[in-house]
Amino acid sequence: MVTAYLALGSNLDNPAQQVQAARLALGGILQTRLIAASSLYKSKPVDASGDDYVNAVVKIETKLNAYALLAEMQQLERQAGRALPADRVHLHNAPRTLDLDILLYGDARIESATLTVPHPRMWSRAFVLLPLHEIAPELVSAEQLAVLSAQVISRLN
Ligand code: ADP
Ligand code: MG
Repeated sequence: MVTAYLALGSNLDNPAQQVQAARLALGGILQTRLIAASSLYKSKPVDASGDDYVNAVVKIETKLNAYALLAEMQQLERQAGRALPADRVHLHNAPRTLDLDILLYGDARIESATLTVPHPRMWSRAFVLLPLHEIAPELVSAEQLAVLSAQVISRLN
């Protein structure tokens, strides 16, 4: 079993409902169970227009390797109405129904064409670090949070 932390985000089609549904669905992935889930958080899009984002972080335990886990997560993204990565023009920070990222996978360090873990941008995003801190305070230092205090984000529930 490996402990992993996953980030969830949505800013289309009732984002809060998307993230809530995904929180449950992640626990339903084969050989995987949900250990903890953060509250939902709302933030303004970074470097992009569009509706507010809703974000959350979950802790899971899984027997899947990181690539199999990613494939299952992408399946959930597709079920939520997001186009296949290969089929779409990649627009960074584009609005999306559901975005699921692997933040941490045990203590693995992965750098391949399709997977970078720890997630390279996690430490610069308040919408990741605040919910991560809520469920795993030992993983996020006060200094790391303080750096991001200018980013406006509010807790939804
Ligand atoms: P972002 O989440 O950075 O806004 P996308 O979700 O559109 O961008 O990017 C999807 C691609 O990112 C996937 O095809 C996947 O292979 C790749 N990727 C690399 N590292 C990770 C990771 N840690 N978690 C999720 N996807 C990742
Ligand atoms: Mg993603």
